[in-house]
Amino acid sequence: MSLKEYHFPRLTKFLLLNYPKGLTNTNSRGIMQKTIIRSKSMDLVGVVFERLTVLEKDPLRDSNGSSKWICKCTCGTIKSISQRSLRGGATRSCGCLNKEICTTHGLSKHRLYVIYKNVVERCKNPRADSYKYYGGRGITICDYWLEDFMNFYNDMLPIYKEGLELDRINSDQGYYKENCRWVTHQQNLHNTRSRMGSSVYKGVSKNKNSSRYTASINKDGEVYKLGSFTCEKEAALAYNKKALELNGEYAYLNKII
Ligand SMILES: [Zn+2]
Repeated sequence: MSLKEYHFPRLTKFLLLNYPKGLTNTNSRGIMQKTIIRSKSMDLVGVVFERLTVLEKDPLRDSNGSSKWICKCTCGTIKSISQRSLRGGATRSCGCLNKEICTTHGLSKHRLYVIYKNVVERCKNPRADSYKYYGGRGITICDYWLEDFMNFYNDMLPIYKEGLELDRINSDQGYYKENCRWVTHQQNLHNTRSRMGSSVYKGVSKNKNSSRYTASINKDGEVYKLGSFTCEKEAALAYNKKALELNGEYAYLNKII
């Protein structure tokens, strides 16, 4: 084991008193090891993170399994915030601080902020036009991003290039870091879910006068006819194969169900 050792006398004493047996990991000199200091079940009650004061632990966890803490903001708002956001330093208020920063620094006009707002709308606002294709289909935005625009900004800005569009790698899953990437408008069009209605699979349609299924794919204005199949899944697989060939890693692939 090459774990680095740290010596925080007060914290060590606190942790020793507050940790269940088996979790403590001290060496012969009573020096606690890093594993414990970083443990997820740290007590944050009373700790101040800029505008937020931690009141108590939230019995619920966020979608990543991170602990959440009920915090009170200096503006009076009470909000549950994940430990990950608090300790990472990204979340320093109930959201009021970001509103001020965004207004002051013009981030509200930043393209990422516009994209973020749209994602929140279509996943969370049942009155939004496109809600039925997103929130209504169970497509969600992860708590970490929902909590704070800056979490989204810090996750996605490093890989952003001007003009790109936000894309979900697996279109059956929601908006979270591992499932999101930036693509060109052209790449995004290939991935748009088919709303033709005759098959659950993209690129597949049921023939009107027989029980067969036709597979086809468009690329740059050209239609590739991939044949007709007795089995819907076979047609979907043919689509997947061609999509991979044409669009590589940006291909939308049917999940065969
Ligand atoms: Zn606030």
